[in-house]
Parts: sequence; structure tokens; C-alpha cells
Amino acid sequence: MKSWSKSPCCSTPLRTSLLGGSYFYVFQCRKCGRTFCHHCGLYGPACPCCGQDNKETVGKVYAE
Ligand SMILES: [Zn+2]
Ligand SMILES: [Zn+2]
Repeated sequence: MKSWSKSPCCSTPLRTSLLGGSYFYVFQCRKCGRTFCHHCGLYGPACPCCGQDNKETVGKVYAE
């Protein structure tokens, strides 16, 4: 797994007070290959590009 200090897809940093955790997951869509997190999803947990919820977890974004 990779780790980032900001989302690699939408550059959202982790805000611990909002999420109550020390990281959030970054996913990659198995269908179109798009990397995304829940911040950039127009479809909730599904891929913002094609709308499929067929993804694998590729890394985490940690609080700075
Ligand atoms: Zn994102
Ligand atoms: Zn997709």
C-alpha cells in the first residue's frame, strides 16, 4: 500500500476533527483504473468516473 499526506486524486488533506481518524483510504477502480477517494466521489463510495463500485484499496492518506 502507498501512503500520501494529501489525496492523490483531489488533493484533499485529512482533517482529523471531521473524520475522527488518522487516515482515509484511496481506491482504484477495477473498471477504468481511476484513482479516487470518498471526497471526489459523485457516487458516494463508487468510482466518480464510471460509477462502478468495483474497486481495490491502493493506499491511505495520513494526517500531516
Ligand atoms: Zn479524492
Ligand atoms: Zn471507474
